[in-house]
Parts: sequence; structure tokens; C-alpha cells
Amino acid sequence: MDKADTVNAPRETLVHDKLQAHHAQADEFIAVRRDIHRHPEMGYKEYRTSDLVAEQLSAWGYQVTRGLGGTGVVGQLKKGMGTESIGIRADMDALPIEEATGLPYASCKVGIMHACGHDGHTAMLLAAAKHIAQQGVFSGTVNLIFQPAEEGLGGAKKMMEDGLFQQFPCQAIFAMHNMPGQPQGHLVLRDGSAMASSDYVTITLHGKGGHGAMPHLAADPVVAGSAIVLGLQSIVARNVDPQHMAIITVGALQAGVANNVIPQTATLRLSVRSLDRDVRVLLEQRITELVHAQAQSYGVTADIDYQRGYPVLVNHPAETDFARTVAEELVGPARVVRQGPALTGSEDFAFMLEAVPGSYVLIGNGQGPGEGHGACMVHNPGYDFNDKNVAVGAAFWSLLVERFLPVQG
Ligand SMILES: [Zn+2]
Ligand SMILES: [Zn+2]
Repeated sequence: MDKADTVNAPRETLVHDKLQAHHAQADEFIAVRRDIHRHPEMGYKEYRTSDLVAEQLSAWGYQVTRGLGGTGVVGQLKKGMGTESIGIRADMDALPIEEATGLPYASCKVGIMHACGHDGHTAMLLAAAKHIAQQGVFSGTVNLIFQPAEEGLGGAKKMMEDGLFQQFPCQAIFAMHNMPGQPQGHLVLRDGSAMASSDYVTITLHGKGGHGAMPHLAADPVVAGSAIVLGLQSIVARNVDPQHMAIITVGALQAGVANNVIPQTATLRLSVRSLDRDVRVLLEQRITELVHAQAQSYGVTADIDYQRGYPVLVNHPAETDFARTVAEELVGPARVVRQGPALTGSEDFAFMLEAVPGSYVLIGNGQGPGEGHGACMVHNPGYDFNDKNVAVGAAFWSLLVERFLPVQG
């Protein structure tokens, strides 16, 4: 892609102005971010948040569509005669965590908080939306996608099932997530597999209960389950190519209530992750085979409920390279990691990247003392989005739009 080369404006001035413009309006959107933070909402229940997003987008002249994925919002803006279109996605949902930051704008809801920074992602995209509408120089169509329910509930997929990309075709799509531990405002890119697939497996072993003193008259699902826990690890060690990542975590093994009773059943709950589509298929095949064979060898039977969650998030090379160029132009090469490490977490933007080429970008939330709550890991009760990123993230989106949809001539 050579979009970045099609604009002839004096680059440095333009980029400097863009950052300045976003810093100038930062206070307004830091206030929005804190307002959303104070009123967190769980997945598919982002009523207040989506109202706020829709009202703001409408006020700036976007054509607003609601209802995709329930509480999803899409703001569309066209300028000029350009026929190309770009999609940018932010997530809006919070987590079932009791906030412990002690901040003045801490969650007003018991047991719910924005502990993943989706309040910040929404605010960054709103800040970009205002600038794009009022000062953005581009020709084409911008689709700003505010999705519900990223945290495990697949809001991205739901929006797609409701016709997102049929109603709002995009040549490319981008999203951004904050990353504690990386320096504030640094941008991290990666092409290829960047985040793991995440599948959930529930195994129920059916044995024959009995007296703990007479095990020969029973079929013990606890012994079978224990063998399965150990056997599963041999899949990672002996079936998966050592050059590929795989995780099989048995997070729960539940059986029995008394020391002298062999129970009828045992239940195992697994989290299965990989960074490769073929490895994901192999894991499902081997887990299924091993569990049934192990169960049979212990004289019990197994029911396996294998739930495919989020797929591997694969960033497309050309779009990632385009985003890299924009990142370096905006914050300078010293603040850009051109090829960051893959992460074992998962993310439902992966569904969108299966349908439309694009890239998922990380923005440093801060590291170490002096960065306040910014260095605290996401999903922790002490976490907070770093407000200094509102201007940087928004400026990145604005510049990305202008570079992707250049005004010709
Ligand atoms: Zn999260
Ligand atoms: Zn998140």
C-alpha cells in the first residue's frame, strides 16, 4: 500500500498541527472518558454509553445507525468524491470487577468497572470523530464502529451477523487497545498472528459411584480425571510443533464431596489457546481423542462440550505496514515498535479481521512508578486508562483517515 505517499502537503507541519489540535481539545474528551469510567456498563447493556456516543456523533454531522449487535453504534461520514472507505472500531463494555483505584471518577456501580480501558478507547475514537468531522481533510467514507460486549461475549461477531460490513463496506479496518507496561503513547504493531484463539472445553466424566472402601466395585471418575489432566499436557509437549505456542489450562476439576465416597461424575473445565489456526484445529482433535481414550482406559465415559471462542487475531501485512508508517509519522520511529510480541490474550476484533483486512494496534498505557494507575495491568481492580493517550490515540486515528483517504491533486 502506498497511501502515505499520495499526499503532497508539508508533512511535518501537518502532523505537528494535528497533534496540537488534539492536545487542544483533549480536556473535553478526558472529561468524556472519566464520565464513561464513572458509569460503566456490562456487555450488551451499554445503554448510557451508546446514547452518549450516538448523540455526540449526530451533533458533529455523522449519519448514525444504532441497533447492530444490540447496543452497537456506527457513525458514518463522507467527504469529497472518494469511493474508498475505512472502518475504525472501539469497544464500550466494562468488567464485573469491584474498582479499587480510589479515584474521584471511580465507578459509581458496585462490582462493575472499566478495568480494560474501553472507556479510553471510546473517548479516543470520539475525539477523533470530532476532529475528522470539523477539520479532517479527506475524500471518501469513514465508518466509526462502537461495538458492545468485547469481554468474552463476542459483540464484534454480533454486529457482523447484523450486517455491519454489508451496510458499511470497508476496504480496511483498524482498532486500538491500550497496553500497560509499554511507555505511554508508544505505538506497537505486529503483522501476522498477534493474539491467541480462545476456546472453552467442559468435560464431564461419567463413572460408577461407590464406597471408598470398595473401589473395585466402582468406576472412579476422579482417578480418570486426574490422568486426563496430566495427559492433556502431553499434547502441548508432544503433538504441537515446538515452534508454535499452545496452552491447555485445566482451570477447574470438580468431583465428590466426601472422603469415603467415590463420586458418580467429575467435571473438568479447560481454557485452550493458540496463535495458529492449524494448531487450534490440532488441539481440538487431540484433546477429543485423548479424553475419550483415557476415559475408556479407566472404565468411564466422557462428554465433551467444545466451545470455540475468539479466533486467532491475524493482522494483515499491508494494512499493518500502512498503520506503521502513520504511527512513525505521528510520534516518530523511536516511539514505535514495528513488530511487537504476540500476546496470549484474545480479542474479538479477530472476527472482523477474518472478514476485512486490517490491523490491531497497541498504545502504551505507561510503565512503572510515576505513571499512576497506567502501569497496572488490565482486568485488575487498580487499573485506570492513561488520559494522556486520549490526544495521541485520537491524532493517530485522524492521521490514519487522512492518509488512507487522501484528497487527490
Ligand atoms: Zn479486557
Ligand atoms: Zn480490552
